[in-house]
Amino acid sequence: MSPTTSALDEAIGFTCDLIRIDTSNYGPGKDGPGERVAAEYVAGKLDEVGIHADFFESQPRRTTLVASWEGVDTTLPPLLIHGHLDVVPAMKDDWSIDPFAGAIENGYVWGRGAIDMKNFDAILLAVVRQRIREGRPPRRNIRLVFTADEESGGPLGSVWMARNHPDAISDCTQAVGEVGGFSITANDKRIYLIQTAEKGIAWLDLIAEGTAGHGSMRNSDNPVSTLARAVADLSMYRWPVSIHPAQQAFLDTVSEALEVEITADNVEETLTRLGSIARMVGATMGNTLNPTMLDAGYKVNVIPGTATAGLDGRFLPGQRDEFLATVKSIIGDKVRMVAHEQPSAEAPWGTDLTDAMGQAVLEADPGALITPYILSAGTDAKGWGELGIASYGFVPLKLPADLDFVGMFHGVDERVPIESLEFAVGVYDRFLDLA
Ligand SMILES: [Zn+2]
Repeated sequence: MSPTTSALDEAIGFTCDLIRIDTSNYGPGKDGPGERVAAEYVAGKLDEVGIHADFFESQPRRTTLVASWEGVDTTLPPLLIHGHLDVVPAMKDDWSIDPFAGAIENGYVWGRGAIDMKNFDAILLAVVRQRIREGRPPRRNIRLVFTADEESGGPLGSVWMARNHPDAISDCTQAVGEVGGFSITANDKRIYLIQTAEKGIAWLDLIAEGTAGHGSMRNSDNPVSTLARAVADLSMYRWPVSIHPAQQAFLDTVSEALEVEITADNVEETLTRLGSIARMVGATMGNTLNPTMLDAGYKVNVIPGTATAGLDGRFLPGQRDEFLATVKSIIGDKVRMVAHEQPSAEAPWGTDLTDAMGQAVLEADPGALITPYILSAGTDAKGWGELGIASYGFVPLKLPADLDFVGMFHGVDERVPIESLEFAVGVYDRFLDLA
């Protein structure tokens, strides 16, 4: 068995094992199994190769694991490499295969977390173990971090760590985790997307207060009407197109691959030629705001005193103030707004670290295109950002052109191709020489 084969076997086995450890995150205030059992599993695998791990628990069983692995050049600041241990819940009845069985079928590992992101936890573990067995330290010191609670935005994981145990990570200046490094296929050319930015989050509560009373009477101060109008006005608003530099670089790369000039008129149609990724990158053409919750009243013949709505807002880096000001101007004075925010993130492109990512990929897939891109959603980068750490998404997966990769995240029948795991093991190993 060649060394590479053994790391691949371990990556497959660890992915299956971690999927079998249910770490469903049901959200704030809701009981779940927590991440401790998964963290103990990871710690055990690191301990076997002589790496000690520390546990940090924000709440019982909500475990984040931190370990240090010494590199060749110990004068360089450590690189933070992270994966989250929690997953979103899965409804067994919706799936073709038990989402927590960790089954292998048709060349795929199936199960919740197979893509998001127990696959990477496993790849990282397997590569670290192989390199230690072979006496091949990484170029620089590595801080290995396996987090809790990413799927709820990290208040019990990365954000909690940054605020309560900054000393465990604050000597790192750069971080690498999800969501990037995967390939899309355009015009038979593979493009690898490396995440250099992510949108900020503004989850908005809208509260309309009015005059309560009998449903049969005239009432010009009905909070249900006031709120409904505000929500409708926000839904009708067309957020202007705004192109972040990472988005522009991505569009330029797509333009090269498809051999078409992308203009304001054809950009939407061009993106649809990329398949399911269009849903993700289309959402980064500007700010977005979607109403997701409405609540008012308790009986049909009673006008309530209050009506509330919940909206999911996402703003581009640098546009937070403008975004919130626009919402306020649309809803007017009669509706109050409370924003629950997480900042956007952005990191520079064209650095030694991003060059290392590109080189590691190109050595394994010559002729591919590499591009930065901006993620529409959020990751643990938001936690590290509180400590000034620049974050990238790089989980190198060479994917079949017909796989609905975006649909795998939080989706039914989540699965990862074994040949993609093989690619990732090789590229990540090389990346650790270059990073
Ligand atoms: Zn994830």
